[in-house]
Amino acid sequence: MDVDLALIGFGGATSLLLSALDRRGVRGLRIATVDPEPAHGHHRTWAFWTGAEDELDPVLDAAWSQVDLYGPSGLRQLALAPMRYAMVQSGPVFQRADEAAARLGVKVVTASAAALSDNGKIVTVRDDDGKTIIRAQWALDSRPAAPARPGRTFWLQHFRGWWVRADTDVFDPASAILMDFRTRQPAHGVSFGYVLPTGRRTALIEYTEFSPARLDDAGYSRALRAYLQLLDLPELTVEKVEDGAIPMTDAPFAVRPSPRVVRLGTAGGATRPSTGYTFSAMRRQADQIAAALAAGGDPVPGPAYPRRHLWMDGVALRAWDRGLVAAPAFFERLFTRNPPDRVLRFLDGLTSPAEELALMASTPLLPMTRAAAGDLLARLQTRS
Ligand SMILES: Cc1cc2nc3c(=O)[nH]c(=O)nc-3n(C[C@H](O)[C@H](O)[C@H](O)COP(=O)(O)OP(=O)(O)OC[C@H]3O[C@@H](n4cnc5c(N)ncnc54)[C@H](O)[C@@H]3O)c2cc1C
Repeated sequence: MDVDLALIGFGGATSLLLSALDRRGVRGLRIATVDPEPAHGHHRTWAFWTGAEDELDPVLDAAWSQVDLYGPSGLRQLALAPMRYAMVQSGPVFQRADEAAARLGVKVVTASAAALSDNGKIVTVRDDDGKTIIRAQWALDSRPAAPARPGRTFWLQHFRGWWVRADTDVFDPASAILMDFRTRQPAHGVSFGYVLPTGRRTALIEYTEFSPARLDDAGYSRALRAYLQLLDLPELTVEKVEDGAIPMTDAPFAVRPSPRVVRLGTAGGATRPSTGYTFSAMRRQADQIAAALAAGGDPVPGPAYPRRHLWMDGVALRAWDRGLVAAPAFFERLFTRNPPDRVLRFLDGLTSPAEELALMASTPLLPMTRAAAGDLLARLQTRS
């Protein structure tokens, strides 16, 4: 099959891209998707920051303009306006993408793409048997991929969440718990719980760690049960379980492995190293690609995050990993010494250098300076 665009992997990044192409009115392109999982990989829940209005509003599970943060000095309530913290299931996002794909005349290929070879003009996509399945002008590849080279810190954001239902009204749907550091802290890394209510009786409650390795099954269940006890909630029914692990690393991802192959999503560096948030950057890049194609250009997005943000994240990861700064105090200071919307725009990669100086000044300066010096030294050593 010969196409203009081969979208390799039909998960989050490709779904958002198809919707963006449709929204921008891009027509007349020959597009194919390739994914071995007909239902777009695994179901998941996406939480992200957004403004007062969002085109996903009709399908959001919930959105909160106020969130709680339980840090070392107790409870802080953060008013997020003009921003909101929002939650959407992957199901409706995939459904919108399927509808967009139908309107765009996309060929959906259920196969595993094992290899892409790029001669500078055409990308040939082969399956596991080495058979050519597609030849494309461009391939946008969101298959999972390891970083291009090892980082100086490699952590994971790993978590388990329970979708719970109560018999009585126990949640306040107007307010979520964003980070609750009262959980038992791991020896190496940081843990927190959070509560995202979707109604008075329903919520997603998660236990999350930022640390080098995953727990075993019993470890997550124990941690979640302990967190529920701490919240002092009545008996709850667990209706669904969600877990996963997202890379948190200063390792670089190869975003353009060859002239006509562009990596998207987590594989393309859209995951924010200091938080694991990915959704907003994927959406932003999807829109950039759609805008470029609508204008007759190449489907190449801008970087997911500015380089200086990646440097700041690398320093923060180093500070937490080497025990120079405790992450709970770090996040508490960040959120309470800055207007919340500045922090949220920073986490989405959208702040100006002046705002970033203010953000840096609000973190513990001496240990962060030590972490920055360590980072610089490690970079110089890698180069020599
Ligand atoms: C459980 C979970 C919850 C998350 N929650 C959030 C959140 O709340 N907020 C946030 O910002 N980020 C979140 N993330 C991070 C990120 O947003 C998601 O991982 C997102 O799905 C990444 O999109 P993607 O397209 O890069 O990868 P995926 O959505 O994983 O898509 C990759 C696709 O590649 C396909 N594939 C694999 N191998 C091949 C092959 N050989 N050939 C063809 N296709 C192949 C897979 O089947 C899959 O469909 C979460 C991640 C997980 C795992």
